[in-house]
Amino acid sequence: MGSEFDVIKRYFDRPVHRKDVLKGIGDDGALLALPANSELVISTDTLVCGTHFLPDIAPADLAHKAVAVNLSDLAAMGAEPAWMTLAITLPEEDATWLEAFSEGLHEICQYYGVALVGGDTTRGPLSLTVTVHGYLPQGKALLRSGARIGDWIYVTGNLGDSAAGLRCLLGQLDTEESSREYLLERHLRPRPRLLAGRALRHHASSAMDLSDGLASDLQHILTASGAGAQVELNQLPMSSVLKSVVSPEQALELALAGGEDYELLFTVPEAEKGALATALAETGTNHTCIGQIIAGEGVRYLRNGEPVEMTLSGYDHFKESE
Ligand code: ADP
Ligand code: MG
Repeated sequence: MGSEFDVIKRYFDRPVHRKDVLKGIGDDGALLALPANSELVISTDTLVCGTHFLPDIAPADLAHKAVAVNLSDLAAMGAEPAWMTLAITLPEEDATWLEAFSEGLHEICQYYGVALVGGDTTRGPLSLTVTVHGYLPQGKALLRSGARIGDWIYVTGNLGDSAAGLRCLLGQLDTEESSREYLLERHLRPRPRLLAGRALRHHASSAMDLSDGLASDLQHILTASGAGAQVELNQLPMSSVLKSVVSPEQALELALAGGEDYELLFTVPEAEKGALATALAETGTNHTCIGQIIAGEGVRYLRNGEPVEMTLSGYDHFKESE
C-alpha cells in the first residue's frame, strides 16, 4: 500500500459538517461534544469477507451494509446517530475499489447525518469494523430487559425478504427479474429504522433489532426480561414478493430464522398501544403486532390461536427443499 496515510487522505478524510465534531480525522483521537443531559450509545460490528459478505459484493453495497447494520443497533436503542469510526483491513490498494467503497460510505453517512471521525487502516484479508456513536436524552434508552407480562410484541416492516435476497445471490432461489431486484435491494441495502427507534423511546418497554432472525432474537428479549412469549404465525408480516417466490412453509422459515432483516422488534404495554400507532404512523413506519409477552420462558407459536410445534432447521432445510 502506497502509504496508509495516503489512503486515509484520499478516500476517508472529507470535510465534516457537524458542529459537535471538535476534532475529526487527523489527530490521535476524535474530540466530540456531547449534548447536555444526554447519554452516549456506542455499538460496533465487524464484517469479515466470506463470513458476513460475499467476496464479490460491490464495494458501495459493502460500505452501505457496514454502516447500516451498525445504525440499526442505534435505532434499536432509540438513539440519534452522530459519529462513526471505521477500522478497515485491505488486502491491497485497489484504487477503483476504494473509490467506490468510500463513495458509498460517504453517501450513507451523509444520508443519516453521521460524521466519519476516525479509524484505522491496515493491510490483510478484507474486513471492516464500524463503530457508531449516538446519543439520547438521559434515561430514555430502549433496553432488551423491559418487557413485562401482557405487553404486546411488534415488528416493523416485513420479515424474510433479506434472507430470500441472499438465496438469490447464492443461486438457490430463481425468480423473475423484478422480484429478484426487490429481494436483492432488501438484502444489500438495509434501511436502519432510526425514526421508528426514536418514536419508540416514549412508548416501548423493550426493543432490539433483528439481525439473526425473529426466532432467536426474540429469545434475547425474553431472557433479558425474564418472561416468555406467544407468537401468532399468521400475523408475521411478509411481503407479497416473498410469498410469491417461495412456498408458505419456506416463507415462514425465512421470516422466523432467515436473518439480516434489520427491522425492529419491540414490546409495548397495553396502555401505550394507541400512542405507539400514532407515533409510528408519523414516521411512516409499517408495524405489526405479532404476539404477546406471557409468564414463563421461551416462545410458544400459535396458528389461528392454536399451539403448533415449530422446528426451525433454517438454511439447510431450505436448501434441501429446493
Ligand atoms: P495513529 O497511528 O495515531 O492511530 P493513524 O495513522 O492510524 O493514527 O490514523 C491517522 C488518522 O486517520 C487518525 O485520526 C485516524 O482516526 C484516522 N483514520 C485512520 N484510518 C481511517 C479510516 N479508515 N477511516 C477514517 N479515519 C481513519
Ligand atoms: Mg492507527
